[in-house]
Amino acid sequence: MAASQAQTVLVVEDEASIASFISLYLKNAGYRVKAVSSGGDALAQVELEQPALIVLDLMLPDMDGIDVCRRIRQRKDIPILMLTARDEDVDKIIGLEVGADDYMTKPFNPRELVARVKSILRRSTPARRAQRRAAWRGRSQPISRSRSG
Ligand code: CA
Repeated sequence: MAASQAQTVLVVEDEASIASFISLYLKNAGYRVKAVSSGGDALAQVELEQPALIVLDLMLPDMDGIDVCRRIRQRKDIPILMLTARDEDVDKIIGLEVGADDYMTKPFNPRELVARVKSILRRSTPARRAQRRAAWRGRSQPISRSRSG
């Protein structure tokens, strides 16, 4: 892929050390990287940069990453890889079906993150994403909890 055609990955992470190593690995893998440290900046950059994929941390200073994910989803169909530091957040990400394409739990291997990014971008052709949206709509029934009372 020529440098001028490099896809942009938007990295949303307020911890500078994590943001910089993610950015470094993604750049080495041939992506353009735009890094921001707040949910507000993320929403602004989604409009400006038209990123091919977003790496989105769940814990941001101004906004919950899940809210950011939902707001992006309302406007754009961009693949989102969520980062979380806590196991219980995984249940939130999966259970609420906020529209994230994948997630990773910190600490993670940056090579694994790059592999996930490549994999998401490979399978995120417009036709496949349309299929996925249709599948979500068909799965509208929430999982009911059995209650004995
Ligand atoms: Ca964070």
